[in-house]
Amino acid sequence: MDRKVVTLLVLAWIVPASRAWADDVPWYQRSLVGMEVGPTGAQFGADPSDVGYAARFDGREVVRRCAEAGSEYVVIWARDGEYAYYDSKVVAKCPGLGARDVLREAVEEGAKRGLPIIAYCVVQQGGHYLEQHPEFAMRDAAGAIIPGRFCLNSGYLETLKSLATEMIGYGIAGFHIDMLDQGFGRPYGCWCEACRKLFEAEHHAKPPGGASWDEGWDRMLAFRYASSRRFERALYQHVKAVKPSVTVDFNYHGSPPFSFEVGQQPVAHGENGDFLTGETGVWGFSALGVGLNAEFYRAATPGKRFQVAMQRGVRMYHDQTTRPLNDIRWELATLLAHGAFVTMVDKTGYDGGLDPVAYRRIGEAFRDARAGRADLTGEPVRDVAIYFSSRTRDWYGREEPSRMFRSIQGAHRAMVLEHIPWGIALDENATEATLGAFPVVLLSNAAILSDEEVARLTRYVEAGGALLVTGWSGTLGGRGEPRDRSSLESLIGARFVRRLDSEDNHVRLPADAPPPLLTGIEPAWPFLVEGPACVYRPTTARPIGELMAPHRTVRQKQGKEGTGWPMSAGTPVGPAVLLHQVGKGRVLTIAASPDAATGGEHPIVEARRFLVNSVRLLHPSPRVRVEAPAFVESVVTDDPSSRTLRVHLIAYASTPATTPASNRPAVIPGLIEDAPMYRVRVMLSTPPRAARAGHAGQAATVDGGSVVATVGNIHEVLLIQY
Ligand SMILES: [Zn+2]
Repeated sequence: MDRKVVTLLVLAWIVPASRAWADDVPWYQRSLVGMEVGPTGAQFGADPSDVGYAARFDGREVVRRCAEAGSEYVVIWARDGEYAYYDSKVVAKCPGLGARDVLREAVEEGAKRGLPIIAYCVVQQGGHYLEQHPEFAMRDAAGAIIPGRFCLNSGYLETLKSLATEMIGYGIAGFHIDMLDQGFGRPYGCWCEACRKLFEAEHHAKPPGGASWDEGWDRMLAFRYASSRRFERALYQHVKAVKPSVTVDFNYHGSPPFSFEVGQQPVAHGENGDFLTGETGVWGFSALGVGLNAEFYRAATPGKRFQVAMQRGVRMYHDQTTRPLNDIRWELATLLAHGAFVTMVDKTGYDGGLDPVAYRRIGEAFRDARAGRADLTGEPVRDVAIYFSSRTRDWYGREEPSRMFRSIQGAHRAMVLEHIPWGIALDENATEATLGAFPVVLLSNAAILSDEEVARLTRYVEAGGALLVTGWSGTLGGRGEPRDRSSLESLIGARFVRRLDSEDNHVRLPADAPPPLLTGIEPAWPFLVEGPACVYRPTTARPIGELMAPHRTVRQKQGKEGTGWPMSAGTPVGPAVLLHQVGKGRVLTIAASPDAATGGEHPIVEARRFLVNSVRLLHPSPRVRVEAPAFVESVVTDDPSSRTLRVHLIAYASTPATTPASNRPAVIPGLIEDAPMYRVRVMLSTPPRAARAGHAGQAATVDGGSVVATVGNIHEVLLIQY
């Protein structure tokens, strides 16, 4: 046979074969944007006589409109706290639907259009089913039913399995299982008979009498985590046993602002599905939470895809409002740049009708996103790992986890505003290799560190890593008890003397401080660094500057007046900074908490600079350095195969807001309406070969070792060839 003919035949074989392979890739591996649609009107309960509710909720229409908007999959509400939206034999069907079956409508329409249909199925949320089955109720330490909560050890799992089997029979592609929390605060559970028995079998002890924050409560936390994990894994295995191709993802509550109360740990509860799904939105997680959550999910499930849900309403899920297009674009671009695939949540009107304007705007935002798909490749370039200690969350944060989160979130805020590329490192899955990928590891008030963690961090530094330590890191025992010594003393190069009992601490840096520690900070000038602080006595480290405890008035000393508002700087009590060479690496310890200050109520710019200057002292020659306004978030990725760096620039140009009607001064941020125009400079350690902006009409020029551009979009990407 002619060689050319053979080649053509081979090609003819390869092309369809590769297309078939592409179709075999699970939907969540190939999707970028999708939608979740469910009705509004039963989220606070529903009366069975309310037949107007969801009467027009139509699976066919939902799928048709989502497809027209460019959605690559549809998550359709199949079961919420009140009803099933299909012909279920297990739980009550929504009465307004009459003979219709929304799940069947959606699956049939999805099959016609080649769109995967994912069933939304809720676990918690009480509702009619829990009222009819009090044997599944969660109970508090006194044995009283906790309203609206199912116990995950009660046998309720079998109900979920039956529901899952029913829905798999419809031909769905997957499940989004929502609300596996054990509550969002007091009262905690569960002390039902089933839990008591299981606890005693597992721990050979009686459950504690409540949140006693002692050995018994330590066991209870472990028991609660195990209960959530067991439930998730059993449900996952059931689905896979019925039909292996059906995907399962659980809505995740392992990241801030959630803490122990929900019964989830960052890694142990992120890894139980085919991929992890989390929520975001300014309404509950702040503007900065959008990127922080995405990177947290990435860290919890390394190597896996992760999904983030955002909403189209201006305030929250169920309000029937639609955000301006640029506001939607900002959040969507932030999530995509951080590596997520994104589900836009739409809640229908009361009767199930869809808002045409919402679908038009979502469609436009999705078109942008899909057009930019090629620029969502590459590995993130990251200089700093923000280290997250679960034990510190639980036992230092306890029932006030913001004590710990403020430092983590403030550190994150400083990195974003100053354009230092960052990632999250989680104690549960950190290894020397994963830490070693970061030039700097930041222990942000990581008060509780195990011997194993300290040993791992020591090896990281000895091998050439740079450790940045703040606040009370290493100064508390395993259950949050005060320690006389810091577990980090040999790394810090100083003897731990004491924790300050004040938060309004100040720092003063001398004019001869090593550069760039003073950049943007006045020398010999005390500035407030509000947050936890420690007094150290240097042994082998070089001390720099002074930590100053606050003045206290006579009335404050008498206990007649609080110390919540910051007082001016008083006496120096120890060094502000300790710089220590360890093996091939360095440790820079800040005796105060510029991270907590940046996340707190007095977030002065100098505190933020202090933290960021410390990073730059430890890592003076980063590969990429971005100079852009503080309202712009930058995300850098590297694609070595094409020798391309991509710098995503996303502008959070929120409009000013006025005095709120309630909860003054907790202002709700204004929506983003306009795309600002600003200048950006990207400095590179080696001069680039070429650069261009991803969007037409935006210029980018190479200027020696820099790329300079003027940007006028909510989202822009600079492509830099090296
Ligand atoms: Zn129970």
